[in-house]
Amino acid sequence: MSDKKSATIAVRTGITTDSQHHAVVPPLYLSTNYEFPEFGEVPTYDYARGGNPTRSLLEKALADLENGAGAVVTNCGMAAINLLLSLVSPDDLIIAPHDCYGGTYRLFDSRAKKGAFKVEFVDQTDSAALDAALAKNPKLVWLETPSNPLLRVVDVADICKKAKAIGAWVGVDNTFLSPALQQPLNLGADFVVHSTTKFINGHSDTVGGVVVAKEAELYEELKWWGNCIGATGNAFDSYMTLRGLRTLNARMRQHEENSAEVLEYLKQESLVSTIYHPALPTHPGHEIAKKQQSGFGGMLSFELKGGESELKLFLSSLKLFTLAESLGGVESLVTHPGSMTHRAMSDEAQAEAGLAATLLRLSIGLEDKADLVADLKQAFDKVRESQ
Ligand SMILES: *Cc1c(COP(=O)(O)O)cnc(C)c1O
Repeated sequence: MSDKKSATIAVRTGITTDSQHHAVVPPLYLSTNYEFPEFGEVPTYDYARGGNPTRSLLEKALADLENGAGAVVTNCGMAAINLLLSLVSPDDLIIAPHDCYGGTYRLFDSRAKKGAFKVEFVDQTDSAALDAALAKNPKLVWLETPSNPLLRVVDVADICKKAKAIGAWVGVDNTFLSPALQQPLNLGADFVVHSTTKFINGHSDTVGGVVVAKEAELYEELKWWGNCIGATGNAFDSYMTLRGLRTLNARMRQHEENSAEVLEYLKQESLVSTIYHPALPTHPGHEIAKKQQSGFGGMLSFELKGGESELKLFLSSLKLFTLAESLGGVESLVTHPGSMTHRAMSDEAQAEAGLAATLLRLSIGLEDKADLVADLKQAFDKVRESQ
């Protein structure tokens, strides 16, 4: 726990803590093992799978940013979710959103089929469906808000209250907003997970993850399991991620400012049909987002009018939006979920999840916002001219 504000925690964690040479920036400890001072005397760090000073600093920063008792940094976001699953047993039920991240869906579904636990996927924006699922006494309620790629929003505090009443844990995947814009533990959740690959590292050059626990006892259990199953992150990636984290708050502000500009442009672009963004008053989650988020973030999705040929021409005309998966880096990206991130889903399953054939997701980067809008405009103009 820290009494400092988010940006201060992100910038200052570990600064001037080097007692050997008084380096301002903490050093990177690559050593896998550490000397025992004496026979029978176990040092703070003995073997890097269980603990490493560089990873510890990142864990401290992330635990403080999320206001948790402790954090376990893992080798990727999926490893973080998998680590959390170490706490559930075969008779336990997990309730997860029907439109959760594809890798999360695959993990829950595959482990459940192996008998590790039971899982039920529910449309959590449908309160009757959610209440019916909660009536089955789940052990863990999994939330992802805003969701990918349609940015659906659920009321974290409200669901936590209902879960608490039946003794269920709530875990929130906070990847889309980062702790700079949403702090689920403060809304009543027990665990927060991030793919630090995205906004937290922010530079698209390391894969990593974290689980933060609200309670010290559950953190200790996660730490034990992290070492047991070998899910922990390595020193170099931890160093890189801590370096990226230092600018998180400043980056998130600019992601949001650039997104707002792009949103204004898309609202009046005649080739755009539906826009999915919680900042829009017409978005069903707008009021909840305003209540529980301190910003709308850097992601938005929209449907392009037309068919496959318009889609192809639009994507090939963009110069500042790279056609790639992932999100949250300094560079702007465009993703076609149907053929990229969500391609494992059948056409029917995609339609059921509300993914239109011409749905595009933008991760708005930190380029100049006028350049980003101009790039979108020239690509839309190319499509217009072709018609
Ligand atoms: C990317 C992502 C993950 C998985 O993280 P990896 O670092 O790729 O393993 C989980 N949840 C969300 C919302 C993501 O965007």
